[in-house]
Amino acid sequence: MPKRQARISPDDRGFYFADGVYEVMRTYGGRIFRLNEHLKRFRNSLKAVQIELPDVEHIGEICVELMERNGFSGRDVFFYIQATRGVWQRNLLFPPKEVLPTLYISVTEIVPPEREREQGIRAITVEDIRWQRCDIKAIGLLASVLARNQAQAAGAEEAIFVRNGILTEGTHTNLFLVKNGRVFTHPLNRHILPGVTRTVVLELCARLGIEVIETGVRENEISGMDEVFVTSTTWEVVPVVMVNGRPVGAGVPGVICRTLQAEFRKYVMRETGSGALDN
Ligand code: PLP
Repeated sequence: MPKRQARISPDDRGFYFADGVYEVMRTYGGRIFRLNEHLKRFRNSLKAVQIELPDVEHIGEICVELMERNGFSGRDVFFYIQATRGVWQRNLLFPPKEVLPTLYISVTEIVPPEREREQGIRAITVEDIRWQRCDIKAIGLLASVLARNQAQAAGAEEAIFVRNGILTEGTHTNLFLVKNGRVFTHPLNRHILPGVTRTVVLELCARLGIEVIETGVRENEISGMDEVFVTSTTWEVVPVVMVNGRPVGAGVPGVICRTLQAEFRKYVMRETGSGALDN
């Protein structure tokens, strides 16, 4: 239905408590990219918060239908998929079993972030005040909202979280740093989201023979890095050319980042048969 006609109860657990999880996936040329990985992560998120959503395996078909009914067939779109614990009186206890989760899925055409990819972005570092389960794609994003706006106020496009002196990830991106041809990224644990794009980039590095070290990098090590870049489903691979007002390396997108951007494109073309990307 048209979004303006959709209605959600004020008693929805998502509204009261941010009691829900979400997923974002995209198409290239109308084909969903890494559907199985996204659904696996969605299942993991649901399981971790004990929301029993039936029919997760049909979400791919629902998304395709949504794309077709909105006249987006063959195009580059992203799907926003959110499940909450349903509608029930305001009470922290789980609702009774018969209360079904609320499932909301929307489709939106992608505006390619060309400027970000080409010229790179500026970032600031902020204290990671998020909870201890950042591996769950939970809808409670207040810390990220505050951080992203703090970045904007500082003239930057992304905020990079720092927990106990260690760089974790961006507000909506995973973080990579490059020093002497070696790539560093935070290991998978409860402090970062296991990004699907992160996995693809690690696969590309392996194929290209680029050494990757999954370890925590300290905030004060940024100044010695040759390159920094971030990844996400809609941004893909975006260079970070300035952090906290200081240039990263030469202050322009670096060679490893450029290589991975190009390889990512080639990979997408092979996987989805999509020639006209992001158009
Ligand atoms: N980290 C966080 C906190 C995110 O919100 C996202 C995406 O929204 C990512 C990383 C990147 O994940 P993906 O590559 O699966 O889009």
